Amino acid sequence: MQPASPIPSGPLPRRLTRQVSIRHGEREVLVGGGAPVVVQSMTNTDTADAIGTAIQVKALARAGSEVVRITVNTPEAAAAVPVIREQLDKMGVDVPLVGDFHYNGHQLLTQYPDCAEALSKYRINPGNVGQGAKRDTQFAQMIEVANRYGKPVRIGVNWGSLDQALLARIMDENAQRAQPWSAQAVMYEALITSALENARRAEELGMPGNRIALSCKVSGVQDLIAVYRELARRCDYPLHLGLTEAGMGSKGIVASTAAMGVLLQEGIGDTIRVSLTPEPGGDRTREVIVAQEILQTMGLRKFTPMVIACPGCGRTTSTVFQELADQIQTFLREKMPSWKGSYPGVEEMNVAVMGCIVNGPGESKHANIGISLPGTGESPAAPVFVDGQKTVTLRGERIAEEFQAIVLDYVKTRYGRNQER
Ligand code: SF4
Repeated sequence: MQPASPIPSGPLPRRLTRQVSIRHGEREVLVGGGAPVVVQSMTNTDTADAIGTAIQVKALARAGSEVVRITVNTPEAAAAVPVIREQLDKMGVDVPLVGDFHYNGHQLLTQYPDCAEALSKYRINPGNVGQGAKRDTQFAQMIEVANRYGKPVRIGVNWGSLDQALLARIMDENAQRAQPWSAQAVMYEALITSALENARRAEELGMPGNRIALSCKVSGVQDLIAVYRELARRCDYPLHLGLTEAGMGSKGIVASTAAMGVLLQEGIGDTIRVSLTPEPGGDRTREVIVAQEILQTMGLRKFTPMVIACPGCGRTTSTVFQELADQIQTFLREKMPSWKGSYPGVEEMNVAVMGCIVNGPGESKHANIGISLPGTGESPAAPVFVDGQKTVTLRGERIAEEFQAIVLDYVKTRYGRNQER
């Protein structure tokens, strides 16, 4: 047996939590309790447009979203939910649907029982359940429906819609302190208290503790880390991680990754969503791919073969290797849904596409398959390495096609069900 490395590596052990089961038919997604971190996403279609929403849910599920949330904001949306579910089932898409409720969830869930039944989980925002005396009754109504249908809930607090009565109470308590906390600390405390008090209230209303997940979303990286560290310390409910209003493009991706990366490394987080604002005409599935890439690059899960590509530099002036890296990454991602069943383990494959001889052969040898393209002034030859051994040198105009064929052949040989491993 090899001695343990003197240099510690890897994330801290996952936080021990209860386990929540999200079901649809035979499909069960487990959240917390040692289950792998789950990838979630949310549609941005009008839920009342049942066909459009079903199509987007299918795309998100196909991209790898293991749970998809849809907003249920109007009677028309509530009426469409069972239709969406039916359409998905007809298409063979068994991804569990979560209903996102604000303001009128108590009415929609009671007046549209088919909606309540078709959903696999309800997200309740305690800041948007109702005001004053109505608040407790309306919250209880939603929990009562969840109990009737055996559905789990997420108590999803958001600092943009924090329960104002609770915030006022925490501020009053703070004013009584000999040394009052900062406004930021009061806000953190209000977010955490809202989640915990509503979870306790749900349990008092008969909801089993293993049907409750929590979230406290904020839009600042340091705020998210601070709030979740404390929330994780104070409870054993599974936690849904996400930076709300993360933003567009690279800013949204970087902010989400920075915040969630720290927490996941500390073993905090049982399900994640990357809330990206899509660019006009952009693809909603991007948020799923980013969530998967966060988990995969951190070594927490494997979803799809990874392409390792060098950034390029002055030693390579052509765009051939950029195009090849992009083609291979797209090829692998597109193939993955069909490969999943036929080639178990293929998601662990690494493919290196390198721009020149400096790091090309070395990096290629570390990958399952690697190609080192010729840099400027180098002989126009691209050696290919398979499992660390140089197998062939490609030349000419068809390098991309030939390399893709080598990758496909490797996948079939290495990961085919009937192959000896
Ligand atoms: S492998 Fe070559 S082309 Fe790529 S970054 Fe390194 S030196 Fe530049």
